[in-house]
Amino acid sequence: MNVLLIGPPGSGKGTQGDRLAERLDLEHLAAGDLLRAEVEQETPLGKRVKDMMQRGDLVPDAVIIGLLMPRVLAAADANGYLLDGFPRSVEQAVEARKLAETAGATPDAVIYLDAPRDVLMRRILARAEVEGRSDDNEETVQNRLRVFDDATSPLVDYYRDRGLLHVVNADQDENAVTEEILKALGVS
Ligand code: UDP
Ligand code: MG
Repeated sequence: MNVLLIGPPGSGKGTQGDRLAERLDLEHLAAGDLLRAEVEQETPLGKRVKDMMQRGDLVPDAVIIGLLMPRVLAAADANGYLLDGFPRSVEQAVEARKLAETAGATPDAVIYLDAPRDVLMRRILARAEVEGRSDDNEETVQNRLRVFDDATSPLVDYYRDRGLLHVVNADQDENAVTEEILKALGVS
């Protein structure tokens, strides 16, 4: 099975991605984590995207697609993927679909983690104290939310039109969210 996990910053994609990948024996591919690893290792790609990520802007489509798609295709060839945090725009979704189609690696389901804005803000600022992610400061978070509204939220309609979308209430405790997702996927 191949699953996409989309949602605004703070909606719990990383947490649920780990849990679902484990439960369903899928490979968890976290787009943001892969980018952060490149930045940390100071690779050419990492150096190129560092400032964009710091501002909360999207990295160029070709960069994230080049980084992710080989991993997506390989995981689909094995037991399937749980892809968290990508695509971030309809353009990226269209491009990724083209690349995945011939390999039979398109998603079987898309989970949208939905939560109110004040909950997202509260979670991110709490997480900032624990994880120290440099893009979890108030100004960058505001921009990330804006980018989500402008670029990413149109994916909801895009995937609904394709009959793939499941909206899940992400404003519940972690276990309840996981169970709701599993139910949506028809595996519990
Ligand atoms: N990012 C991006 N494209 C992606 C995934 C991540 O440009 O497909 C960048 C973007 O700058 C984003 C940052 O990486 O703000 C962190 O992404 P992540 O998914 O970790 O953060 P989230 O929004 O889920 O908190
Ligand atoms: Mg994340």
